[in-house]
Amino acid sequence: MNQLEYEQLVHEILTCTKCPLHKYRKRPVPGEGKIDADIMIIGEAPGEKEDEQGRPFVGPAGNLLTKILSEIGISRSDVYITNVVKCRPPENRDPTDEEIRSCLPYLIRQIRIIRPKIIICLGRHSAREILKLCGFKEREVSQISKIRGRIFNVKMFNEIDITILPTYHPAAALYNPKLRNYIYEDIKKIVEIYRTGRIDIKRKSILDYL
Ligand code: URA
Repeated sequence: MNQLEYEQLVHEILTCTKCPLHKYRKRPVPGEGKIDADIMIIGEAPGEKEDEQGRPFVGPAGNLLTKILSEIGISRSDVYITNVVKCRPPENRDPTDEEIRSCLPYLIRQIRIIRPKIIICLGRHSAREILKLCGFKEREVSQISKIRGRIFNVKMFNEIDITILPTYHPAAALYNPKLRNYIYEDIKKIVEIYRTGRIDIKRKSILDYL
């Protein structure tokens, strides 16, 4: 059932013309990985290489992400990787509010199909959009430096218990070893919690974070 729903969703993304980005893209980038993955990684939008290949995180930032994951003992095939926006914004500019608004329903459907235990948000756009879906206000979650490394245990869509970890985007860390270290430490922390099975113990309400 999930597989069929997933294939239908991918088909819709591959043929989407809902926002202006479809005019500039070479290929949409729906996402890839296990559709029953416990860990979902969400970036911002495809870059040049992703646009060429139709796969997420295959350019320089993707190589860094893959390297960090493998240092922590995670392979890309263990997780599901996607982006907030499925088509490349020209010149890699930030996606607009309109582009995010029209693409977000795809991400919501992906989360509902995959039902991950953990979502790792890479960068401020991803963290902001995912935490807004959980009921946070934009001003509470728009500064990645303030929320990175924090663990948010939430019930998404009033039905799925998910632990959310925002961290920096690997593109920002390409030339900044300090940020690279933060990403490594943040992801390692959440993976260790996951591995020890402590992930389900303490569910907080959203009010505990405010
Ligand atoms: N940056 C992203 O946010 N996503 C990708 O897929 C590649 C680079």
